[in-house]
Amino acid sequence: MSKSPRLMPKQPGLFRGEVIRSKRFSPSIQRVTITGADLSTFPWLGYDHWFRLFLRLPHQGEFVLPELSGSRWWDPYFAIPEDLRPHCANYTVAGFRPETGEMDIDFVVHCGPEGEPEGAAAIWACAARPGDPVALLDQGLIFDRPDDATEVLVVADESGLPSTAGILRSLPRETVGRVIQEVPLAEDRRPLDAPAAISVTWVIRDDAAAVPGAAALAELRRHENVDAKAYAFVVGESTLATEGRRHLVRAGLPKDRITFSGFWKSERTKQLARV
Ligand SMILES: Cc1cc2nc3c(=O)[nH]c(=O)nc-3n(C[C@H](O)[C@H](O)[C@H](O)COP(=O)(O)OP(=O)(O)OC[C@H]3O[C@@H](n4cnc5c(N)ncnc54)[C@H](O)[C@@H]3O)c2cc1C
Repeated sequence: MSKSPRLMPKQPGLFRGEVIRSKRFSPSIQRVTITGADLSTFPWLGYDHWFRLFLRLPHQGEFVLPELSGSRWWDPYFAIPEDLRPHCANYTVAGFRPETGEMDIDFVVHCGPEGEPEGAAAIWACAARPGDPVALLDQGLIFDRPDDATEVLVVADESGLPSTAGILRSLPRETVGRVIQEVPLAEDRRPLDAPAAISVTWVIRDDAAAVPGAAALAELRRHENVDAKAYAFVVGESTLATEGRRHLVRAGLPKDRITFSGFWKSERTKQLARV
């Protein structure tokens, strides 16, 4: 049984690689480093550059990739028979070294109600071994600060920590603003390369039963002085994204100056949506 990707010509936007290492970066984050000849040409833009990550599931011997031709990736993806279809999830470039073609990807390690590991991508990351194949489909940036923004506000749960870190690293050094970054544990905090006039508030959840993002949202709701020409970027669990935007609009920030994205949806949010 072959364990290497099906040989296919290089497809636009699709980059193939393999795992070099996987290590626990902090208690709640597994960092997987990948490389590959394709990756040295990845057109990294910094900020929150993200991609769709294709992974081979444990029961799959062969790594079958969608044969992409146009802009709609999901038609060829769902055309792959279900038992051969790779897992696909969205991730952010946590680090990129073009000289060696190496990319770091930070996976939130999340658990179900009984404390059992959950999420095919997170479980894959924790078990990843050197040589395991991956592929990623470049999706570019979501961060879209207007040129005239007076300040930048970034709010995220831990799934948005790679975005926060990348945005802070990429912003012009004179940028003014604030970051509200939630993490599960104090040990998940990390040094951030932030412009001097951006203040960083770490919100430590320290409660395995709490819905991620709720504590960051509570902190955001205390942030009321928002300049109408600011720019805000709010990502993470979907309630943080939607309620965070609602708060900022009420605080006077025009909708077109807010980027918000539900990076994932908790089971509790899904249940509330059903009632
Ligand atoms: C643009 C973009 C960039 C992203 N970048 C990153 C990134 O760099 N790192 C990262 O870790 N995530 C990132 N995410 C979020 C990630 O795509 C989702 O968390 C995804 O669901 C993880 O896939 P999975 O296979 O592990 O879990 P799934 O199979 O999708 O979900 C399984 C279960 O896990 C729950 N779940 C999913 N994610 C989480 C979580 N973070 N915390 C707690 N429970 C969860 C779901 O509610 C579900 O019940 C990003 C999302 C977007 C849209």
